[in-house]
Amino acid sequence: MSMTTTQPEIELLCDLISCPSVTPDDAGCQQILIERLTALGFECETLLFGPVTNLWARRGTASPVLCFAGHTDVVPPGNEAEWSSEPFRPTLKDGHLYGRGSADMKSGLAAMIVAIEQFLAANPDPVGSLALLITSDEEGDAREGTLKVVETLTARDEYIDWCVLGEPSSQISIGDTVRIGRRGSLSGILTVHGSQGHVAYPQNADNPIRRFAPILAELHEVVWDEGNENFPPTSFQMVDVQSSAGAVNVTPAELTARFNFRYSTEWSYETLKERVQKIFDAHKIDYDLAWHLSGEPFLTQPGKLIDAVSQAVTELAGTAPQLSTGGGTSDGRFISPAGADVVELGPVNATIHKIDEHVKVDDVIKLTAMYRRIMELLLLSP
Ligand SMILES: [Zn+2]
Repeated sequence: MSMTTTQPEIELLCDLISCPSVTPDDAGCQQILIERLTALGFECETLLFGPVTNLWARRGTASPVLCFAGHTDVVPPGNEAEWSSEPFRPTLKDGHLYGRGSADMKSGLAAMIVAIEQFLAANPDPVGSLALLITSDEEGDAREGTLKVVETLTARDEYIDWCVLGEPSSQISIGDTVRIGRRGSLSGILTVHGSQGHVAYPQNADNPIRRFAPILAELHEVVWDEGNENFPPTSFQMVDVQSSAGAVNVTPAELTARFNFRYSTEWSYETLKERVQKIFDAHKIDYDLAWHLSGEPFLTQPGKLIDAVSQAVTELAGTAPQLSTGGGTSDGRFISPAGADVVELGPVNATIHKIDEHVKVDDVIKLTAMYRRIMELLLLSP
């Protein structure tokens, strides 16, 4: 490793990047965390679901429970030849650490562990409990990760009060943005049925492309909502349309299409579905529509957690964070419904999932200090 650093969070981050944990493979990351946490008095429980390795670690039995959450899996590196350095060999250059997962989200994990070590060294007997919920299935289909761990906890009446997710929430500088919720994500898979025919005899066929065109236009014209004080407006996007009989002189029998809504709390899964179906029904076409719900929207209300996170960021970054619900979905959608307040605070997300993903070393050190401060504000009696 081409590193000369004595910062414990950077050393741990390098160890984690060196594990090629392409989703859903944990590749040994959680074992590294377990060793550190066991030494601090955490009870560590590995929960295996299918190919996914999950970790639930808890220190103490009292309430409130402050949980740090995140994932060890990373997206594939892509074309390795395009990387300036090997994706799973942490490389320091100009104050930045390069490697797959450096920003999303192994720096979050490294900062959590070292912050907890420092906090407990200074405060060996805090109020409440500390916990970690770590999965290796966030970048994949996410069905056997955080969702299953939360189900397991709920089944035995174990609950998280406050959750800090280490996802890369920041835009330009560390702590400039904290996520306090996320939009919902709903996909529709549409099939329009017609009948195939000779392109020269349209009267003898029923072309599904022609049937779909006015509906497509209408779906784009609808103003779904204007957003609200916490959420941007709901967005509708087509992501795939296919229809072909495979020859230029044949009109097709079927059209398939896929679309996605990122929706605000102005809608629920049910009301949005109903509204879309009404549009299709009005056009009197023969169609099938299947739905896939990735997650309902969630929002953490003002309270102790948001106050503590805002104060910690303001003290250490010099400016108050912007509280946002933008971006894609996160595992917060599985933790929030069980009753936890959830916020996301992590490094700058400018290079996540890209070639040459990197994180600023100073940001990881600042993030560690922020996490430590959040624990002080929530788990030390006044
Ligand atoms: Zn992530």
